[in-house]
Amino acid sequence: QQRDPHQRWFHQAVHEVLESLEPVLDRHPEYGHAQVLERLCEPERQITFRVPWTDDAGTVQVNRGFRIEFNSSLGPYKGGLRFHPTVDLDTVKFLGFEQVFKNALTGLPLGGGKGGSDFDPKGKSDGEIMRFCQSFMTELHRHLGDRTDVPAGDIGVGQREIGYLFGQYKRITNRFESGVLTGKGLHWGGSELRAEATGYGLVHFVQEMLHARGTELDGRNVVVSGSGNVAIYATRKLHQLGATVVAMSDSTGYLVAESGIDVDLVEEIKSSRSGRLDEYPARGGRAEHVTGGSVWDVPCSVALPCATQNELDADGAAALVRGGTIAVAEGANMPTTPDALAVLSEAGVAFGPGKAANAGGVATSGLEMQQNAALDAWDRDYIDKRLADIMADIHTTCQQTAEAFGAPGNYVLGANAAGFRKVAGAMLDQGVV
Ligand code: NDP
Repeated sequence: QQRDPHQRWFHQAVHEVLESLEPVLDRHPEYGHAQVLERLCEPERQITFRVPWTDDAGTVQVNRGFRIEFNSSLGPYKGGLRFHPTVDLDTVKFLGFEQVFKNALTGLPLGGGKGGSDFDPKGKSDGEIMRFCQSFMTELHRHLGDRTDVPAGDIGVGQREIGYLFGQYKRITNRFESGVLTGKGLHWGGSELRAEATGYGLVHFVQEMLHARGTELDGRNVVVSGSGNVAIYATRKLHQLGATVVAMSDSTGYLVAESGIDVDLVEEIKSSRSGRLDEYPARGGRAEHVTGGSVWDVPCSVALPCATQNELDADGAAALVRGGTIAVAEGANMPTTPDALAVLSEAGVAFGPGKAANAGGVATSGLEMQQNAALDAWDRDYIDKRLADIMADIHTTCQQTAEAFGAPGNYVLGANAAGFRKVAGAMLDQGVV
């Protein structure tokens, strides 16, 4: 905290992990002797750079680019790029730190990293997005490589942006090196199911959580916050499994529909960069659009925060408890504040942390890297099965680790301890580097 006093999100993420690791460190003093924690909290490399680009009016704009190469003890740095006006060093550091543990939990050879820019894609033309991506990659390319650092998408970065980034990488390096980015289009090295993977994987994880409590998703009402990539595919999978998503949100408010949200209509609205959920009723959707208030006021038995960090606070958690919620799982990264987590824990609500619950996206990115390395393309059924198996394994790992440390059902401890032991073990093996 003394080194970076203003990085509150990074401190929140580190604090949450260190607090839950106390029983692990008590049992393994060797980690303390080798200063593993001190090394783990300091990124291996932090890159910040200028991203100049020209808008449609011919005016030069300047944004800031970031890439945090956090930890490479298990594999190449791996983690998404976020384009959003709130992105700063604090944001990418907290996301990179979380990514290290998440990637370890997948069981794949992936280190952790994260990056992005304070560029706001909203309201920009395709040409502006392309010129921005080209300028961003003009600097970033020198830090990437399929065995070095492999970015993917995140908020504001989908397949279109990955395409522009990849095109510029190829132009600069004169190499079709598909393993250098994931989230690519299917015809140029992308993987089946990558777009769906985080949302689908989240729902697989929730199913496992409910099975562990002797119950099912079928017939349950679910609230999903956000209406981007993770939220939309989580909603699709929930509907396939017989649950009903009764509310979804975006930065303008939320929709409530007792009979269920029409996810095709949400996807159609959100496919336009300026699309807002308040258009839903006017476009024939049967739901009420609410501005102000909180999506967590809608009663549900399962709640999935899938928008952004710290979106579920103590008031929201108290509303969920009043509404009869039995399980919360994080589709977004760190959407639950520490106060909210305390409220949920006190009420006995099962809680799946993002490191475990939303790891399906990066796991499928790992499968995309394997296909690229083998110049191969696997079919959808095979990847679907691998994703379901990976999520079930992550759930088992978290559950068994929590039990081993005397805290059955504590997925936060289970995820942090299991991820930490893998990364710390590799760091010890590789010496003081
Ligand atoms: P998208 O950009 O596709 O969607 C983000 C959604 O969250 C939008 O509905 C957006 O609303 C809303 N949102 C974003 N920022 C805010 C904010 N400050 N306040 C309120 N609403 C906000 O992103 P993704 O779905 O890809 O990512 C969502 C979360 O999931 C992030 O935390 C991301 O890190 C995490 N995640 C994503 C993975 C992936 O594979 N995509 C993998 C693992 C985690 P609006 O449209 O109005 O801006």
